[in-house]
Parts: sequence; C-alpha cells; structure tokens
Amino acid sequence: MVKLAVIIPVYNESEAIQKNFAMIHQTLLADHISCHYMIVDDGSTDQTWLEICEIVKKYDHVSAIRFARNFGKEMALCAGIDHIQAQRYLIMDSDLQHPPQCIKDMILLMDKTQVNIVHGVKKTRGKEKRIYKWMAKIFYKILQRMTGLTLDNSSDFKLIDAQVADSIRQFKENYVFFRGIIDWVGFESTTYDFEVEERISGSSSFSTFKLIKLALNSIISYTSKPLYLTIVGGILFLFMSIILGIQTLVNYFSGHALNGFSTVILLLLFTGSMIMLSLGIIGIYISRIYDEIKQRPRYIISKKIERL
Ligand code: UDP
Ligand code: MG
Repeated sequence: MVKLAVIIPVYNESEAIQKNFAMIHQTLLADHISCHYMIVDDGSTDQTWLEICEIVKKYDHVSAIRFARNFGKEMALCAGIDHIQAQRYLIMDSDLQHPPQCIKDMILLMDKTQVNIVHGVKKTRGKEKRIYKWMAKIFYKILQRMTGLTLDNSSDFKLIDAQVADSIRQFKENYVFFRGIIDWVGFESTTYDFEVEERISGSSSFSTFKLIKLALNSIISYTSKPLYLTIVGGILFLFMSIILGIQTLVNYFSGHALNGFSTVILLLLFTGSMIMLSLGIIGIYISRIYDEIKQRPRYIISKKIERL
C-alpha cells in the first residue's frame, strides 16, 4: 500500500501548476519522503488539465482525476481521498501557500505523538487584504458560537491517517465543510504551526461572494442551531408582547388608548421582519433537505489517470 498520499486540489492554475508541482516534488525528494500524488482537477476551465497530463507523463507516482465541472475544493478533497488507499494522507493547496518544507516535520510530529490528525495552523494569515482578515475573524467567531468548532487560523493543510480517511469516506452528504468534518470525526489530534506563503502567481479563486457562500454553507451543513434561534426570537417577542399587552390594556381601561400609533407601526415592522427572517432560515434548511434527499452523486469524474 502507498505510505503517503499527497492530495492536491487544483482549479484554474494552468500558469503555475507545473512549476508548483515540481517544487513540491523536489522538496519531498530532498526530504526522502516517498509518496504518491493525487491531483484533482476541480473542473478547471483553462489549460490546467493538459498541464496535469504533462505532469503525469513526466513524473512517476502521480495519479489524476478531473471533475466534469467545478464542484468546489471540499468535494475535490473528498474525491482525492476516495480514490487512493494509503497509510497516511497529506492534503495541501497547489499554490505553494502550504509550504512543502513543512511536510517532513508534520510526518515526524505524527510519528512522535502517535496522533491520527496533524492540523496545519496558520501562524499569521499571510498577506491578505485587511477586509478579508476581518471577515475571516467574524466568520470564525460566528462559527465558533454556533458550532463549538474552534477553527481560527485553521487551514486545509492536514496530515491524516487511514482511520480518519476511512471515516471521512463514510460521509455521504453533498455539502461538506472539510475542516468541520475532520473535527467532527474526533480521534487524537495535534497542531502544527506554519507560516502562510504568499501566492506566487494567479489569484485566489475565492471571490467575496464565494467566501460568503462557503461561510453560510459551513454553518448550515454543520449545525441546525439557526433554526433554534428563530424559537429564541419568538420567545423574546412573546415576552415583549405580554408586557406591551398589559400596558395597552391598562391604557384602555384608564381611557388613554389613542396615542401610541407609532408603537403599532414599529411593532408591525418589527414582527414582520422577524417572521420573514425566521421563514428565511427555515427555508434554507428545507432547501438543503431537498438537495440532500435527491441523493445525487457528490461529484462527477470525467477523466481519470491512475498510475499506482
Ligand atoms: N480550488 C479548488 N476548487 C475551487 C477553488 C479552489 O480545487 O473551486 C483549489 C485551488 O486550486 C488551490 C486551493 O483550492 O489549490 C486553494 O485555493 P485558493 O488558493 O484559491 O484559496 P485561498 O488560498 O485563498 O484559500
Ligand atoms: Mg491559496
């Protein structure tokens, strides 16, 4: 069996993938780490697949799969794990932001501590726009409150063993948040701090919109707490209406009933928006149930090169 499988999701990286892969390969070679690569092309729309074919020709121990369309990085990671059997799996980005020099230390750390998972944790968030740093911070705060997951500065740079990979393979849901499920399955884990490198070429393929979608998806696929929030909101409003109801009745019986028209308008607006908001939250979950119940395949593979 393969000792170490290196899983690399790639999306529209045609300019850099050859160079980056060579870099990863050289580093691992220099560190005497033998491994098998699994490159997953997440339905790139540029020349990435051709570049990957070149890589497969040039190097031994490289397998590759191509999605029929863009299914997202999380699915690419799941597909990578599904399609290779190994004792250990290393998951890393293709843009060298996850430094390959760290892999050796992560393996040593796993040997030494005998854990099942080594989480790569960003020491700093690298050179990101300040607004992204803020957004990430807010997102992780909300996520932590709602799910209890502490994912601050966490990354998808991870080393997992076969047991963890097996449990990840059992997930059948279409929306997965990879970091969330790795945390959810449990097992012994430890962290490894690394410095995020700057992206050398191209730009992050996560637009602001995609990031917001990812943030929402992660919360919704991990927890149903927002649904309970609507109940909490409801109870709060019930209390308020009891108090206001008593006041209104007192006013009525003491003959001061007419003023308070603005209160009525405010209340109407307030309850209206609360109801809409709650319906929205419920709607999101219903749509998610609908999506999952269709039991569509999680991803579709159009091409596959296996070289084991
Ligand atoms: N990626 C992917 N599918 C996507 C978007 C990104 O497989 O839909 C890959 C991408 O090629 C890279 C990794 O996921 O290897 C991280 O992407 P990126 O560098 O754009 O994200 P960031 O570093 O900003 O988190
Ligand atoms: Mg990146």
